Amino acid sequence: FSSIEILGIPFANTTRDQFVNQLQKRINHHENTFVVTANPEIVMYAQKEPNYQKLILTADYISPDGIGIVRASHTLKTPLSERIPGYDIFMDLLNWASQNQKKVYFLGAKPQVIQQLKLKLTKDFPGLKLVGAHDGYFKSETEIVATIEKQQPDIIFVATGFPNQEKFIASNRHLTKGLWMGVGGSFDVFVG
Ligand code: UDP
Repeated sequence: FSSIEILGIPFANTTRDQFVNQLQKRINHHENTFVVTANPEIVMYAQKEPNYQKLILTADYISPDGIGIVRASHTLKTPLSERIPGYDIFMDLLNWASQNQKKVYFLGAKPQVIQQLKLKLTKDFPGLKLVGAHDGYFKSETEIVATIEKQQPDIIFVATGFPNQEKFIASNRHLTKGLWMGVGGSFDVFVG
């Protein structure tokens, strides 16, 4: 699918279904993939931080997260077809991972949230292979990175908030042939 540029950020111009489909294909083909779900906050931050902008431009896909992005695309007369919230992609991929026994790793949020997340995942997505989960308040990456490298997850969700999650992904994505995606506060939302 094509992309539409807003303030220097090329957004995927497609539907949620097609977007998720494409990600599933890449996971099945073991293609290393970096997904950024960009909301207006991220776009504005990238405007004033060129290093962060450079980093998110290394992503394979940038999805329009938030109605503000879609509104801006209409104002600029280059309308995006659909808003694709990061949380929706997260849910779709979890469902699919559960149905297809994919290996998933979760990094981010508070320790209590990670505990609840593990319980809820087992209940809601029993087919999913949970190969690791770690809270987002760590001093050293060493243990986390070692687990990821050893387990070779098909999907790694990083929920430590921007810009940290994208920085973490950009520096570690070479460790697997899977999909890496920053999902902000999605773990908190999922556990409720
Ligand atoms: N978080 C984390 N480590 C940190 C700071 C934040 O894991 O050092 C988590 C926090 O617990 C929350 C998420 O990152 O679950 C940030 O959520 P937010 O909705 O603020 O996402 P953002 O919009 O910043 O991407």
